[in-house]
Amino acid sequence: MRWRDLILEVANEIIRLEGGTVPVTDIRIVPAQTFFDMSHGTTILEENGDIALRVAVDRPPAEVGDTIIHELAHVLLGREHIDNPDHGPRFQEIYERLKKKYLDTVTGDLPP
Ligand SMILES: [Zn+2]
Repeated sequence: MRWRDLILEVANEIIRLEGGTVPVTDIRIVPAQTFFDMSHGTTILEENGDIALRVAVDRPPAEVGDTIIHELAHVLLGREHIDNPDHGPRFQEIYERLKKKYLDTVTGDLPP
């Protein structure tokens, strides 16, 4: 399966399991280690309200998995949070919970 489809499926499965109300509609795979701002992932709120994740995948699977979990924590906080992201206590709580529950699964699903 292609990276994009694979990550899209895993992302929406986690959102469903966590009772999230906002699905991810697109995954943009970037064959690089980082973006120009040195980040590894971004959550994008499209003008039509759709949500896309952009993920730099030229890294070890565990790191890519961690980036996906990080971005999903932003998504689970809700649409209004996405254009104004912070990494405060609520974010950390969700991120740590997702990491414990899903990081191994997400990482194991990624192509080596
Ligand atoms: Zn973030």
